[in-house]
Amino acid sequence: MKNKTTCPYCGVGCGVVADVQNNHVASVAGDTSHPANSGKLCVKGSSLDKVLGATGRLTQPKVNGVTTDWDSALNEVAEQLLRTMMTHGPDAIAFYLSGQLLTEDYYVANKLMKGFIGSANVDTNSRLCMSSAVVGYKRAFGADAVPCNYEDLERADLLVLVGSNAAWNHPILFQRMRHAKAQRPEMRIVVIDPRRTATCDIADLHLAIQPGTDVLLFTGLLAYLAKHDALDETFIKQHTEQFDAALNIANDTAAHLPSVAQTCGVELAALEQFYQLFLTHHKVVSFYSQGVNQSSQGSNNANAIINCHLATGRLGYAGAGPFSITGQPNAMGGREVGGLANQLAAHMEFNEQDVDRVGRFWGAYNMATQEGLKAVDMFDAVASGKIKAIWIMGTNPAVSLPKSDAICAALKQCPLVIVSDCIAHTDTQDYADICLPATGWSEKDGTVTNAERRISRQRALLPPLGEAKPDWWIISSVAKRMGFSHAFDYKNPRQIFTEHAALSGFENHGQRCFNISQLAQLSDHEYEHLTPIQWPVTSTSPTGTARLFTDHRYFTPSHKARFIPTSQHAAVQQPTSELPYIVNTGRIRDQWHTMAITGRAEGLFQHRSEPFIEIATQDAIKEQIKTGDLIELRHPQGVYIARAQVSDDQRVGELFAPIHWNRQFASQGNISNLIEPVVDPYSGQPESKHGRAALKPFTAQWQGLLMVRSGCKYQPTTGYWARVPKAAANQYYLADQQPLDATIAALSAQLSPATSVIESSDNDIYRAAAVKNGQLEWLLAVLPYDQIPPTDWLAEQFAKPQLTHEEEQWLLSLSGGSQDDSGAMICSCFQVGANAIKNSIEAGCKDLDSLAAQLKCGSNCGSCIPELNQLIAAG
Ligand code: SF4
Repeated sequence: MKNKTTCPYCGVGCGVVADVQNNHVASVAGDTSHPANSGKLCVKGSSLDKVLGATGRLTQPKVNGVTTDWDSALNEVAEQLLRTMMTHGPDAIAFYLSGQLLTEDYYVANKLMKGFIGSANVDTNSRLCMSSAVVGYKRAFGADAVPCNYEDLERADLLVLVGSNAAWNHPILFQRMRHAKAQRPEMRIVVIDPRRTATCDIADLHLAIQPGTDVLLFTGLLAYLAKHDALDETFIKQHTEQFDAALNIANDTAAHLPSVAQTCGVELAALEQFYQLFLTHHKVVSFYSQGVNQSSQGSNNANAIINCHLATGRLGYAGAGPFSITGQPNAMGGREVGGLANQLAAHMEFNEQDVDRVGRFWGAYNMATQEGLKAVDMFDAVASGKIKAIWIMGTNPAVSLPKSDAICAALKQCPLVIVSDCIAHTDTQDYADICLPATGWSEKDGTVTNAERRISRQRALLPPLGEAKPDWWIISSVAKRMGFSHAFDYKNPRQIFTEHAALSGFENHGQRCFNISQLAQLSDHEYEHLTPIQWPVTSTSPTGTARLFTDHRYFTPSHKARFIPTSQHAAVQQPTSELPYIVNTGRIRDQWHTMAITGRAEGLFQHRSEPFIEIATQDAIKEQIKTGDLIELRHPQGVYIARAQVSDDQRVGELFAPIHWNRQFASQGNISNLIEPVVDPYSGQPESKHGRAALKPFTAQWQGLLMVRSGCKYQPTTGYWARVPKAAANQYYLADQQPLDATIAALSAQLSPATSVIESSDNDIYRAAAVKNGQLEWLLAVLPYDQIPPTDWLAEQFAKPQLTHEEEQWLLSLSGGSQDDSGAMICSCFQVGANAIKNSIEAGCKDLDSLAAQLKCGSNCGSCIPELNQLIAAG
């Protein structure tokens, strides 16, 4: 049976069609009828059927590590929250939510906390990715309202991508941009990013600016537009306010182009080229993401961009506008229901009228009356003991928040930590007193809103695994046990959604942009069959709203858009002589967040298997580092060890590290631990794009490869290790400063009883394999990193129920005699490695079409096209 649902990863919100056979998702494909993706999926979306299944799932409630039933667990949660509330007051409790939750889950969590417990200490991991964009929109438009839609990306004549590696992080949108440019080669694309990323593959101009200088770049653009008579004076006069203040500061601080170019670290000619492109194109979309938001100036970054659109009237029509793109599948839904600590539900604020209005609507007499603690402050309050009970839902702050070791320490001493998750073991759960099993993607039922305000259904494909329950059910059940039955007596997610829709229209009178009141009367059947629709959805726009502000009416008191005066301030985490490198953090193509889900799919490790550090060639020469070496980043907060990737795409003095590796996949691969908890003063968003660290090679006595049968309780405890899951084994890359003997002894002690061990030792080359009852248990090979062969053959041996004598003989060869080496995985969709691609290029395939015809690579999701182009150019 084919069921339509939505991808749970990035904010593009692609529609998915799942083929469900006998309670099993047999395959997934893109939904051709979904406007976001028209049938395409990227590699993460295409792998959704590979991350399902019972392995590693949390299926029963646990209290203090002991499995229990739901009644007992819910009673325990309710009693402990009530006790905390009575003893220490409502503000001693906090909820930390996630952009992975469905809107219905989010709504109920907010309602319980802000309406009935009486505190606004509800924040979300979306604070880490887009809260600065929210401030930007609210300050400019009086509402957290994204004016644009995805079609605008295709209809723009100039697309400015700021701080966005869309090719890897929003791959389907990137493919839409690529296709649009192929159709209209006159379309211009500018990428503004300190790194040369895969996104630059479609760029006409790349400005590799000095990190943290976005405000200056766009304030300079405002001054330039004014100087060159490119302002839309009528628009400014009729539809905006505070223009003079913004222009004055721009003229005072950013009118001198050579100074702007120098501070931004770009050539003057390139700067002028960008400014001219903006000046000469009427249809301009600025598309911005974490590079803009994750800054101590994130809010001003956003407003500096919006100012340029307001000054030229470039918004409110097709192909124009400032477009913040969300990172998570339901970051936008969280914003709608008040998932951020400084918002009430349905885009209302903590003012007297809104608090009263929401309180009356909910029948709540214990409304929070002021903003709660934002993420970083919230965990500070956990550390200081002010917060005594925290409920974390569907997220992993022990890995994702800055200074993450301190987050772990805070959780460790918190009297009550409750974690709801679908996964049995995350780093955060190590500190949980109560673990509640939540439904996973294929079992969830509700709605999500993507980055273009489009609400889509995420439908249950399978029954919940074990005792897992929907988050809304868990929260409502606790609320009822706390004595709030009248307000939480929901039978299904439809009832929650229609209440949420009704609240959005309640006493709205056109004052609040977020309004989906037309959906407040949906029946169960209509909700089940709801097709993707963009808010606002009202009686005057019953089929949704593609684009906002077409009437130039904004949601400020004057109904005019506001310019926000902005001026450049340096990033807080400046390099010093002890910490000389700037550390940029970000996502990679095939992984998601802290790997809790994507870490279950073997195929998603083929593109990048280990944590890495991208380093500029010049720095690598200075530090005597080459690609494949291990390097150690040091900061007073901690250490990060990863594989070096020397790159000409990196600016000198700057490093890039991925955010994904948690403590279960690498010894010291959590880069967030090195980021200082510095935040934007308006949004509270951490400055995760501008850390600092010292660097040195990681010198090991020996390096090698270890593979251990899945299910064996073994994890290296010393040195560097990075784990790569295989079908029947865990593969570890090892490098240790301790003698090899210690590792062999640990392996033998823990894994070898009743096992025959085959060993070979020749000079420094040591290899051993342990076979138990005919099955391969573990294999250790000590050899230089660049001599580790592909492990496909070895992985196959672990899957065999009985090795033949000949296979046992071959084990220490590591390859079974096979010489196949496909090289680094480039096209994950069709499993095409770099070596096969290079061979085809050498044999005459000189363009994408001929490579696709021969190897299929690049012909599905297209995420690998930038890398294919690089190989073609190099070949
Ligand atoms: S672009 Fe990829 S990860 Fe994002 S929603 Fe679409 S399929 Fe999912």
